Amino acid sequence: MDLTLFHTHDGVKNEPPRRRRASPPLVIRAAGRYHASPMKTSLTRIRHTMLASILLTLSSVVSALADPPPACWSAEALAAKPGEERAIRLTSPVEPTGDAPAATTPVPRDAPRGVVRRVRLPDGDRRIALTFDLCESAREIAGYDGRIVDLLRAEGVRATFFAGGHWMRTHGERAAQLLADPLFEVGQHGWSHRNLAVLGGDDLRREIDAATVEAARVRSELLARPCMAGVAIAPLKSFRYPFGDCDDAAQTAVRDAGLTAIQWDVAPGDPAPGIGARAIARTIVNDVRPGSIVVLHANGRGRRTAEALAIAIPELRARGYAFATIRELLAAGEPEIETRCFVSRPGDTLRYRRAR
Ligand SMILES: [Zn+2]
Repeated sequence: MDLTLFHTHDGVKNEPPRRRRASPPLVIRAAGRYHASPMKTSLTRIRHTMLASILLTLSSVVSALADPPPACWSAEALAAKPGEERAIRLTSPVEPTGDAPAATTPVPRDAPRGVVRRVRLPDGDRRIALTFDLCESAREIAGYDGRIVDLLRAEGVRATFFAGGHWMRTHGERAAQLLADPLFEVGQHGWSHRNLAVLGGDDLRREIDAATVEAARVRSELLARPCMAGVAIAPLKSFRYPFGDCDDAAQTAVRDAGLTAIQWDVAPGDPAPGIGARAIARTIVNDVRPGSIVVLHANGRGRRTAEALAIAIPELRARGYAFATIRELLAAGEPEIETRCFVSRPGDTLRYRRAR
């Protein structure tokens, strides 16, 4: 594989410049060494005009600032693998292990009450947040839809993934890749996709805490790798309710865990059987407004999601939209908060309240 772009990395992962990443994306060498861009060597050969040299130098500097990949994976290791998007049934569940939640990195308890549906941004800021759920129940290994991640990287589209703890356990390397990528934010999605609105007491806390413990494990193991030296990754701060459902007890438990509950104002319904890429793309493009949060799936359940994004991303950009992580949206504006959880309208998650 041709390793084309390497850049120095001074990196705090969560504050990269907002710039479309040059293609190809995240080309990384496993040896952990950074190399000067070939652009630099070609630069010396340019004799045409001083202006051309200056422009190319500037372009190289901007590119270096915009694309700081940790050198932990080869391009092949990052790329989508055929079949990885498919789910596998398990005969017995993967049990959470690890330290008690108290032993994990504490997160500040400044989360707002209620659930964030979207963010009100200052005039002229036309960013939106694409979010992707990585749901996995206790008796399956759900998929990893690398086509989506590859596309986001190639297009330099910032995005947020809400990963289940069980998913992180069964996709340890993929979870680490997402966490390490400065283009992305990772939030959590409960341990095994149980509906928090039907849980209480220890079960409720365990569903949240087990995912926090798993995320902390992935994060600390990642940060211990030599290739991550000098890179900072903030602890997970955002939470997405499985099934989009919650009740008062669930809201209290999520907030007590120091997490901000993030829902959406645009739900294209990408897991719906038979839905086409054009229909998903049309909902995204027509329904977003600045500060919108779009819910999609990257665990293989959104079978047409990658194709839909290939249609929607250029169309959104043509309409002046740009992309931000949830953390960035929240930092830029005021969250619009609902006291209840719902998909499209209050009450529409009640159908998910069967015992699980
Ligand atoms: Zn889910």
